Amino acid sequence: MKLIFASSNKNKFIEIERIIPKNIELGNLKEINFFREIPENEDTIEGNATFKAKYIHSKFNINVFADDTGLEVQALGGKPGVHSARFAGNECNSEKNITKLLKELKNIKNRKARFKTIIALVLNEKFYQFEGIINGEILLSKKGNNGFGYDPIFKPDGYKKSFAELSINVKNKISHRALAMKKLIDFIRKVKS
Ligand code: IMP
Repeated sequence: MKLIFASSNKNKFIEIERIIPKNIELGNLKEINFFREIPENEDTIEGNATFKAKYIHSKFNINVFADDTGLEVQALGGKPGVHSARFAGNECNSEKNITKLLKELKNIKNRKARFKTIIALVLNEKFYQFEGIINGEILLSKKGNNGFGYDPIFKPDGYKKSFAELSINVKNKISHRALAMKKLIDFIRKVKS
């Protein structure tokens, strides 16, 4: 079975490539000649993931999945959440997003946070969603060089290191995206058996 992953994020692709079993062929947007960014204008993580998967399915009529992820910080009422990618404004990057988040959490003791991923799947014209959540806390400063996005300031519960200090193999055992992907893979196994 072939599934297109509707994302231009290379880091996400590398993570997912390592999780997905060999009987599922993972395809990317370039091979279907799609080179643009898919709009992310919905109000929720669920909405964005759904939009991305359905958008590519409507244009190419293929089996496709998309993920959307948000970092939800308890003391900020769940912010940045669905706005995680553009937390520091339209012209932002991970560096600026992290700086803004650490500034907003300055002097705040409650550092609890969670990553939430929703994966939306369109398979044989039917639509499905899978959720993955990992709880943790926001560190006082950046630690580590692996990973991407907010990884340097997120420490998963039960670990002493940030996501950016952990290897991709460890992140891939416990992360929000890995958990959602495992649900998708289990689902496909059941559908096929
Ligand atoms: P999106 O799912 O690509 O919209 O990601 C939203 C924001 O969360 C972006 O700033 C990403 O860099 C960040 N992000 C997504 N997944 C992860 C992750 O696994 N670790 C750290 N940051 C992430």
